Amino acid sequence: MNILLLGSGGREHALAWKMAASPLTDRLFCAPGNAGIAREAVCVNLDIADHPAVIRFCHSNRIDLVVVGPEAPLCAGIVDDLETAGIGAFGPSRAAAQLEGSKGFTKDLCRANGIPTAAYERFRDVDRAKAYVGRTGAPIVIKADGLAAGKGVVVAATLAEAEAAIDMMLGGGLGEAGGELVIEEFLEGEEASFFAICDGTTALPLASAQDHKRAFDGDKGPNTGGMGAYSPAPIVGTAAGARVMNEIVLPTLEATKKMGAPYKGVLYAGLMITATGPKLIEYNVRFGDPECQVLMLRLKSDLVPALLASRDGVIKSIDLRWFDEPALTVVMAARGYPGAYAKGSVIGGLDDAAAVEGVEIFHAGTKEEGGRILANGGRVLDVSATGKTVREARARAYQAVSRIDWREGFCRSDIGARAVEREK
Ligand code: AMP
Repeated sequence: MNILLLGSGGREHALAWKMAASPLTDRLFCAPGNAGIAREAVCVNLDIADHPAVIRFCHSNRIDLVVVGPEAPLCAGIVDDLETAGIGAFGPSRAAAQLEGSKGFTKDLCRANGIPTAAYERFRDVDRAKAYVGRTGAPIVIKADGLAAGKGVVVAATLAEAEAAIDMMLGGGLGEAGGELVIEEFLEGEEASFFAICDGTTALPLASAQDHKRAFDGDKGPNTGGMGAYSPAPIVGTAAGARVMNEIVLPTLEATKKMGAPYKGVLYAGLMITATGPKLIEYNVRFGDPECQVLMLRLKSDLVPALLASRDGVIKSIDLRWFDEPALTVVMAARGYPGAYAKGSVIGGLDDAAAVEGVEIFHAGTKEEGGRILANGGRVLDVSATGKTVREARARAYQAVSRIDWREGFCRSDIGARAVEREK
């Protein structure tokens, strides 16, 4: 098969690494890719927002399957456009991608189908929104309806913070994404993520993984795309996993099917494990980044047949096997991230770092120039490792980090700390 992967981050590098190893893969392309992905795939300089250009590329290169990494093209309907042009694609349709593209859409779907989630209301009007938080009190959570690159959620500890968030979002601070708000109850518990590959009717759960969202050690500092992850994540045990499937994921599939937009692709549920059981915080319609990196390291089976089965509606025939060994990834980011940061600094020592036993380095934001690897994004490298225990995986990953010569970068030093604590 000829496969085209869309995206340019660490998630896509891990997917490329896994798909390149498949006996089903003849040629693997990635648009636009990065310096690490270029070792696994032919990187092509395509604007993935230009759907006709992507379709032309697929026709002239006899692409059998397009795998879409990030959410933006999914929400823009790239899967619909590819399928209309007769090209197979892995991921949800535009209508189904609203599960990530509109928080209000997901909340209404939960309410209509009895799926456990925080109590909420939707608002377009500042005064009504403020009157509502006046009645509920704080803490309270203010969310922009649309895609806001991780900036659309404010967990307000006080009424003043809630009102400021309402003013900022409805005042246009997040552009179109903040034109409508979801205001919801603050949930208490421990957060967890749950991943499943869906085919429109049924779902196959993937291994568990947990990420670290805050920029600095001890979960301090601003929210980021994710500064590290590990798998398995013991918080979603077998019993909780079954509840998540039966109470959240399967009813969601049933609901999307009923509305004529059956969900296909990876469904990533962000959960709060509360005293009364798991509740849905949000859906993402693609693999998490950096969770995907640790999942791919632990996946023993071929990934490609599962992607095809999702598209073809035959996930029931797929059984994925996983290595027992845990995996962990440490994100190295450019200083300043998630705020302003510089691009173009030189990264050394990568071969030395990759030589540490069990280590795999995925590139998240790099480019090659004259044989040198340069930083080319906020999150730049995912230094990943497997080991007999999380402790061992973690020691290996940090040993590799210490061999990387990149003064302009930083990483957290406590990735997986809770999981290591649990191992004791
Ligand atoms: P989201 O983008 O919806 O996942 O929200 C980002 C983060 O905000 C989540 O990972 C949680 O830490 C927090 N959060 C979102 N909704 C709630 C809620 N209802 N209660 C408590 N924390 C929340």
